[in-house]
Amino acid sequence: MAINFYDYVSSYDFVPFAELQSNDDFKVISSKKSSLISTAIKEVYKKKSEVTIEFKPETIKKEKTILKFKLQKAHQYASDPDGYLRYKLTAVNGQVFVSNHNKKEVEHDLGVKRYDDIVEIVFSKNLMQSVKYIDFYYKENSDDWFDFKGNLPASWEHCGRVTIGAGSTCYCNRDFTEEEMREIVKELKENTFYSAKDPITKENKQYPITNLPYHSINKIFHRNGNSGKFKNEEVIDNSFKTFTKSLNTIFTKYEINTCRLKIHFLSQIYIETLFFSQTIETDNNYTKRYDPYRGRGFIHLTWEGNYKKYKKDNNVDIVSNYSSVAKDLFVAADTAGWYWRKGSSKGDINKVANRGTVEEVTPYVNALSFNLKERKDAFNILIKILKYENCNNKK
Ligand SMILES: [Zn+2]
Repeated sequence: MAINFYDYVSSYDFVPFAELQSNDDFKVISSKKSSLISTAIKEVYKKKSEVTIEFKPETIKKEKTILKFKLQKAHQYASDPDGYLRYKLTAVNGQVFVSNHNKKEVEHDLGVKRYDDIVEIVFSKNLMQSVKYIDFYYKENSDDWFDFKGNLPASWEHCGRVTIGAGSTCYCNRDFTEEEMREIVKELKENTFYSAKDPITKENKQYPITNLPYHSINKIFHRNGNSGKFKNEEVIDNSFKTFTKSLNTIFTKYEINTCRLKIHFLSQIYIETLFFSQTIETDNNYTKRYDPYRGRGFIHLTWEGNYKKYKKDNNVDIVSNYSSVAKDLFVAADTAGWYWRKGSSKGDINKVANRGTVEEVTPYVNALSFNLKERKDAFNILIKILKYENCNNKK
């Protein structure tokens, strides 16, 4: 299997490319090369490679595996005998995973390598679960390849990336990336409501709230309503970036940290927020008996008493600034995280969600278990999307 990290067509320059050597510990999910770039100064043509691999489930149970890359001539007439290549491992959530490097990213200088040399990258169990990317950098000349501060000089060129696919590592104790969250939301929506599957089929019609015309595959939290009583509570920043960040923040803060807990949490908030479309109960034609403390946030926080409890515990005044729970995704997420652990009158939801079913968890979130079927369906689909069968802490 030839995967080039760099193609560099030039008559004499040494430019290596690293060929990933296949082995039984991983599978290649995709590989692509970016388009040719021609630089005006030099007659060179470059292609970056992007490869996504996944470690196999049995691999991540091993103590270690080794990825091997063979350095090769990019051009048959390349004459220099050696060159320089660096790689940098980037952790998923910025955790430090190599003890003697007090940095988020670790660089390993390969120094002088010759054609046909094999570069080995050892993945310990810990690295397999935390590394998201291996980035390769190339430098043509050797004058500034060494940097004591550990920063790559600008003259180093990024020449290829191996992405360790999400299937390799489960979602326990790590952040979601923005791309992962986009994919999760997209797949979840595609499998639970009509929009991607127009025309509406019989199966999709089973969902009482799915044939609303405003759901969108690519938009989130865009439906807070722009008229009536609470028209000024639209989400200020409803980007996937912010959504992902807000979830990662509370998953860490409230220790919703295993695949199972995250799947339970996401399936509940998916329904609570009407398929990630609203952070407020919008029914602006009606006055609710608990107004203005109507349902807001990822788990619709309702009644003044609950807003007060949150304020007391967190010293954040959502009682007078109740609209912030709908408008600010970080507050929407934090109120839900707080509710999950401390706000539910039935107790800590982590305890029941650790082993429990959706039927058991739902009354903690919604006393009357409204939309139980939809919550169960979301859970069952998330189990597949997050590949729970590969979870290191599967119950
Ligand atoms: Zn897991």
